[in-house]
Amino acid sequence: MRRRADMTTETRCWVDGAARADGDFPIENLPWGVAERPDRQGEPRIFVAIGDSALDMAECAGFGMLAGLAPRIEAALRMPTLNGLMALDAADWTAARAHVTALLTNGAHSIEKHARRDAVLIARASLKMQVPAAIGDYTDFYASEFHATNVGSMFRPNQPLMPNWKYLPVGYHGRASSIVVDGTPVVRPHGQTSATDEGPPTFGPSKLLDHELEMGFFFGGAGNAMGNRISVAEAAKHLFGCVILNDWSARDVQKWEYQPLGPFTAKNFCSTVSPWVVTLDALRPYCIPGPSRKEGDPAMLDYLRWDNDFVVDVTLEVLLASAAMRAAGTAPTRVSIGSFKDVYWTMSQMLAHHTSTGCNMRPGDLLASGTISGPAKENRGCMLERTWRGTEPITLADGTERRFLQDGDELTIRGWCERPGLPRIGFGECRGVIMPAR
Ligand code: MN
Repeated sequence: MRRRADMTTETRCWVDGAARADGDFPIENLPWGVAERPDRQGEPRIFVAIGDSALDMAECAGFGMLAGLAPRIEAALRMPTLNGLMALDAADWTAARAHVTALLTNGAHSIEKHARRDAVLIARASLKMQVPAAIGDYTDFYASEFHATNVGSMFRPNQPLMPNWKYLPVGYHGRASSIVVDGTPVVRPHGQTSATDEGPPTFGPSKLLDHELEMGFFFGGAGNAMGNRISVAEAAKHLFGCVILNDWSARDVQKWEYQPLGPFTAKNFCSTVSPWVVTLDALRPYCIPGPSRKEGDPAMLDYLRWDNDFVVDVTLEVLLASAAMRAAGTAPTRVSIGSFKDVYWTMSQMLAHHTSTGCNMRPGDLLASGTISGPAKENRGCMLERTWRGTEPITLADGTERRFLQDGDELTIRGWCERPGLPRIGFGECRGVIMPAR
């Protein structure tokens, strides 16, 4: 267990595992989540991940440990979802984070020696994590030029990107009811598929089940009244935090059904999110001015242009293990690795465009980036691209080949931020095992 040498006295966190150099949850991260603890089944509460533990906010409130926070913040932290906290503003989120930092470090507000310390600090592994917010609406974008170009060139070799693509962040309204948390099994969907673009189709289990490596981000702050826009500069104040998102997709169903209105049942059966919401406060040190534009790219329209706009350098890794590999204890095979910084459209631009009509957003709404791919083959964020429509299969550690996902496969996405001189902060995992069609 290596300890970082750069810890100052004021920020030294006394929780086990918090200073591990390869951990996801040091004191600089402090992501929010919702979980049931083993002794309070059926009673979801807000937690903060720290090292190998998690801090129970309702329990902290009960023991007076949140004294000093504004009553509206304490009330929000006692709720069974993050929607109340998300509905506050960025200054309140920062205040809540500072208070939790003070509890877990060596200063005057430390709870290290508190008599009820063991009642509020729970082993993280014992928690049953939940989807962290009641998600009213979910929207999925298509923000990676590499992904859009790869997929476009398979189906439209002469015109991979549609004429609108570099002018607006393309997206579609997705399904909130089937968003599940890390670890939830994914049942192979049924659907209509057709061997040719003309039909006729047959109905049955999808044969081309895929993952999509994405970042999700939650809307926070006061929602805009219907009819009012959120500017691209204001949008950043509404970014509560990020999660990993896997937009499971049935490619054979998608190919037949998507015209002319876009994805429907090929994507409505399940989307998985990682349980811990990493805040913009935590991600700020890993933000980079952006988005990058190449010579020849069209100028952004004014409502999408903001001089201080940014992307976040989150490394994202996709791992795949067959049922046989898991039974044998074999480590999963890495399918791809990329970064959220490689997107063409930023989170602020996606949100500004979403509201450009006056569409009203509400705290807890979830937006997602679309598949994140990068310039190299190993950066391709879904099987469709990674195996180039199945023509370049991947060989797993057990010797079997994959073009798309098979029953029993476990797909895991991990995400983390690293930068010289700064601690690593991570997102935890976003996993799902494919179950046979029912
Ligand atoms: Mn998607």
